[in-house]
Amino acid sequence: MDDLRSELADLVRAVHAYVAWHGEGGTVGFPREAVRPQTTPRHETAHAAPPPMPAPAAQAPEFSPFAAPSAAPPNPFNEPDPVPRVTKPRIPVPKPPPPGEPRDRHVHLPRIEAEVSNCTKCRLHETRTNTVFFRGNPNAQLVFVGEGPGADEDASGKPFVGRAGQLLDKMIGAMGLVPESDVYICNIVKCRPPDNRRPEPDEVAACIPYLHEQLDLVSPKVIVALGNTALAALLGTAMPITKVRGTWKLYRGTTMLMPTYHPSFLLRPTSNPVESKRQAWEDLQSVMKELGLEVPQKR
Ligand code: SF4
Repeated sequence: MDDLRSELADLVRAVHAYVAWHGEGGTVGFPREAVRPQTTPRHETAHAAPPPMPAPAAQAPEFSPFAAPSAAPPNPFNEPDPVPRVTKPRIPVPKPPPPGEPRDRHVHLPRIEAEVSNCTKCRLHETRTNTVFFRGNPNAQLVFVGEGPGADEDASGKPFVGRAGQLLDKMIGAMGLVPESDVYICNIVKCRPPDNRRPEPDEVAACIPYLHEQLDLVSPKVIVALGNTALAALLGTAMPITKVRGTWKLYRGTTMLMPTYHPSFLLRPTSNPVESKRQAWEDLQSVMKELGLEVPQKR
């Protein structure tokens, strides 16, 4: 009988402690469902110490679509997860802007870059190391658009950093401009095509909306299209760069566009580089005039 009384007293104490713990946590009522799994023996529940205060849930990236549901139960038996794990995004995708909000480039360009870093819209995402969005100054009046990342760009996540990029920097320097502060540099596709092949038409079609939005936000006075792929994607023309270079075009009916050779073409020994470089310099001089920059008389 004494044992029974003692066990009953223990039980009452445990219930008091349990209720007090919930009270401290702000609970004003109890759920109708059992808190513990039904497989737990009743006597274990009665003698168990009050359950510890649950630790605050880890803060998932606020707008990450890949955040695990916070209600997901733990897997105590280390069984294989039935749902394949999703690779963590490189940049958390910010909340979409409210409709009608003024389009601030310093808000929206990072948003597009975050979308690009998570993009799987075409097969190029399967082999990329990094997405390549831009380098330079988003406030620039002059934008250079190339074809797509190569091996160096894929490795660094920045456009035009290999040999062709060094030549492009020299061309920009010859204009009296500084690449990182006076121009904005980007590409038609944001992921490297394997083996440095040209991007396929469906890859360009999948990626070009990012560039249109990018250009819309940067809103340059002049765009320089570097090579055939940039020319075709920006103007929808099949004319080769050799025929069109040096002649002013309009991008989307509003922005002056100068087509010229891609720096990697100028580096090819088969391209008559001396003559091609002279022509490219002529094209850049036209750009300088359009921007009101002083053009050197002789080079
Ligand atoms: S190339 Fe463009 S469309 Fe294709 S996966 Fe990369 S970011 Fe997405």
